[in-house]
Amino acid sequence: MSRPASLPYRCWAEIDLAALERNLRRIRAALPPHMKYVAVVKADAYGHGLHHIAARLMHSGADLFAVANLSEAAALREIGSDWPILVLGALLPEEMRFAPEYDVTVTVSSVEEVEKLDRAAAAARRHLDVHLKIDTGMGRLGVWHEEAGPVYRAIRSAAYLRLAGVFTHFSSSDDDAAFTAEQRRRFLAVLDRECADLDRERLLIHADNSAGLDTIEQAGPFNAVRVGLLQFGIRPVANSLLSDVQAEPVFSFRARVGLVKNLPAGTGISYGRTHILKRDSRVAILTAGYGDGVPRAVSNRGQVLVRGRRCPILGRVTMDQTIVDVTDLPEVVAGDDAVLVGRQDAAEIPLAEFSRLADTIPWETLCSVTKRVPRLYRTSLGV
Ligand SMILES: *Cc1c(COP(=O)(O)O)cnc(C)c1O
Repeated sequence: MSRPASLPYRCWAEIDLAALERNLRRIRAALPPHMKYVAVVKADAYGHGLHHIAARLMHSGADLFAVANLSEAAALREIGSDWPILVLGALLPEEMRFAPEYDVTVTVSSVEEVEKLDRAAAAARRHLDVHLKIDTGMGRLGVWHEEAGPVYRAIRSAAYLRLAGVFTHFSSSDDDAAFTAEQRRRFLAVLDRECADLDRERLLIHADNSAGLDTIEQAGPFNAVRVGLLQFGIRPVANSLLSDVQAEPVFSFRARVGLVKNLPAGTGISYGRTHILKRDSRVAILTAGYGDGVPRAVSNRGQVLVRGRRCPILGRVTMDQTIVDVTDLPEVVAGDDAVLVGRQDAAEIPLAEFSRLADTIPWETLCSVTKRVPRLYRTSLGV
């Protein structure tokens, strides 16, 4: 969104690219050396901004990028003309002819997709790499694991397709280790049963997302991981492998104090007057609301840092403004910085806490920061 250069920011996200780089290096160091690092940068790199994030990840040693769809792949092609890109989502029939043009690797789940892609690649006279996706219990993309044989054979006999990988996705790696283990078993059974003739050295075999890294098998055929959230410094679960990885938050969410004022006890705050002041109060009106991605669910629940102290959100979050209680902080003045997610002095509101109070998950919080909010890139010194 354009803005005269001299105007200050009212609400912004700060993105620490040096922390991102350190996170990638630490995750890599915790993994067996042969593991390829697939950097998941879908949804504008989880709201952090695709260009800056992908460039820094490539510079830091990512082996491959994963995106949700072809238009994200096309955006990535603009910055990395020869970077390997895996499209995780299913292509629409009319998108298939663009896959050879963008030189992407496509995820396939059905014989029908294989046949259509083969025709598209033949028409373009170019070979196309595909990854076969196995549904081991997510119930979303992928061929159901008991029915993988025909899709596998269709790929192998397609003249213009080359099988470059086989993968699955976990539904519950953050809270159900037993089911995750069952998914791994189902996946390995497919590899043994259907793909026994494969040269596994030449294939990417992958299953683990950030939470999956907890139970990753160091031995076995897996030779790649798909990391999204963890590279941004957010831990999906506290766990063994990852507890060694000192991941630092990359994202913080900031606004300003637009106005400070006194209100008498008994005043109702914001739309619907869902909070009634119990005492004579000082309130600060922040320059951010749900139009910036502050979820309405943190109304009357969330906290914001001002002057390094936690201040409760009063009443409903509105489109452009959020009201907080600063009665106990007489030093607060208009223009002060306010932190919705991140650090200020010694205090911190972690993204996980903010997301919990918003009844959501960190992934959704990051994707909900709107395009009104500029992303400012900075480079912190190492810790
Ligand atoms: C988004 C996604 C990932 C990354 O998940 P995180 O939990 O953010 O690490 C991995 N694999 C697939 C198929 C995905 O859609």
